[in-house]
Amino acid sequence: MNVVWFKRDLRISDHDPLASAIESGATLALYIFEPALWQGKDLDSRHYHFLQESLTDLDIQLKKINLRLTIKVGDVEDVIKQLNEGFHIKGVFSHQETWNDWTHQRDKRVAKLLGQLSIPWHQFQQNGVIRKLESRNGWAMRWHQFMSNAPIKVPVCAQSIKVESDNMPTLKEIGIPNTDCGYRQTGGRDMALTLIDSFFSMRGERYAKEMSSPVTAYESCSRISTYLAFGSLSIREVYQLALQKKKEIYVHTVTGSPWRQSIRAFMSRLRWHCHFIQKLEDEPTIEFKNLHSATDTLRELHFDREHFDAWQTGRTGYPFVDACMRALRATGWLNFRMRAMLVSFASYHLWLHWREPSLHLARMFLDYEPGIHYAQIQMQSGTTGINAIRIYNPIKQGMDQDPEGIFIKKWVPELSSLPKTEIHTPWLFEHSGGTYPAPIVDEKSARRAASSKIYALRRSPTFKKISTKIVEKHASRKQSAKGKPKKKIAFTKSWKQNELF
Ligand SMILES: Cc1cc2nc3c(=O)[nH]c(=O)nc-3n(C[C@H](O)[C@H](O)[C@H](O)COP(=O)(O)OP(=O)(O)OC[C@H]3O[C@@H](n4cnc5c(N)ncnc54)[C@H](O)[C@@H]3O)c2cc1C
Repeated sequence: MNVVWFKRDLRISDHDPLASAIESGATLALYIFEPALWQGKDLDSRHYHFLQESLTDLDIQLKKINLRLTIKVGDVEDVIKQLNEGFHIKGVFSHQETWNDWTHQRDKRVAKLLGQLSIPWHQFQQNGVIRKLESRNGWAMRWHQFMSNAPIKVPVCAQSIKVESDNMPTLKEIGIPNTDCGYRQTGGRDMALTLIDSFFSMRGERYAKEMSSPVTAYESCSRISTYLAFGSLSIREVYQLALQKKKEIYVHTVTGSPWRQSIRAFMSRLRWHCHFIQKLEDEPTIEFKNLHSATDTLRELHFDREHFDAWQTGRTGYPFVDACMRALRATGWLNFRMRAMLVSFASYHLWLHWREPSLHLARMFLDYEPGIHYAQIQMQSGTTGINAIRIYNPIKQGMDQDPEGIFIKKWVPELSSLPKTEIHTPWLFEHSGGTYPAPIVDEKSARRAASSKIYALRRSPTFKKISTKIVEKHASRKQSAKGKPKKKIAFTKSWKQNELF
């Protein structure tokens, strides 16, 4: 039999491994729940519940083509060995996966085992990420080519193999506390399609203007990230729907219509999705190590547990920071700008090394996608060495993005009676904060101290040399028709700007 090994691709449409396996014979649709993966510090009960819902949904989808989903629990190597003893496995079909280091090492072991058993492993590209990429030149062009190819059709009907499923272990059995967030999205392809439909028909119109404020972003952003992360939708499907929408917009709207700006902004972000995952594919160590080695001397020896706890529980004394963290804990989602602000506050104002905060956020983001996550975390902490330093001022952010204090009042109820003139800086007004904590650091002096440390480092002679190599390997660039980069990649200009957001 052929085995289709489902991983983070829980759908039946635009699924090359499934279509190819079915075409070549009797097929087992398999999901392997790996308890060891859940022992890592980056997963949470919210992911477990979303996964369960997505698997139930996948089984319903598979039924339509005469298959059932078999769930096995254990190490992949053991599951494959057992299945191969009972049924001769002709081939294993899966998508290439760029996930965390644990899955990377597991895939190496699986490849070795399959080699020993002489079972071919057919791995298919699942997004714009390219395996064994030699150079970033031409990457964007290849991304567009992949996205423009027709999505793989749902196979008509399959010859199935019946194998009993195991029971999924409970959260207790895998040692994860059940802290499911009450307002999270629910798993399954129907939910994903409903979201994308409402985004393109209505919600997306003001996307470009409203994505930065958490007051509007929950409604105006597409909110498809979790469905992409679990693979209920493929990024190619989304790209093609967006392209269709873009064509309609250009026919039916006038220059200056908010839709035009929004669709362009949205489509760029679909490319960024793969651009960031490509970084992890090319340099898996960014999950643990600073991309720019000169930044190793910045924060490695400093970790203030009390500050970290205040940050992760939403009790820093900065209302907008705390509102964002509490909203994230309750909903599993936050808009881009506010994610960046949370990391900036931890990395600069609190001068915390990014590793522990990144794990907390990985557990909180329902859409946790290691490739995007670690690259973004390092970018917002100033350890990539090639991006502009962005130190967000949380008070200014609150005043800009939540001027009326609506978002703060929703998530920090201790402050709900304050007028908008006091809500961003309650410590300046007597008795106005109630049980709400005083600021754990002084915003201005913490920001200035961080800024001077990071810029001093950037001026060191070795810094630029290392940055040049990083730009060469990881930076995105436009390609001319002749296949050469359009312009010399300049990084000095951007990193010299002290952008105080
Ligand atoms: C510190 C930090 C950590 C992040 N961690 C993750 C993560 O674990 N998983 C994740 O999917 N996104 C992550 N992002 C990127 C971004 O915040 C989310 O993709 C976005 O908020 C998801 O909401 P949406 O689906 O409504 O996005 P939309 O704005 O509607 O965008 C559509 C899609 O484009 C992609 N996208 C959007 N913005 C970015 C971006 N800046 N970089 C790369 N791809 C992007 C996503 O796939 C997203 O679903 C992180 C950003 C920061 C600053």
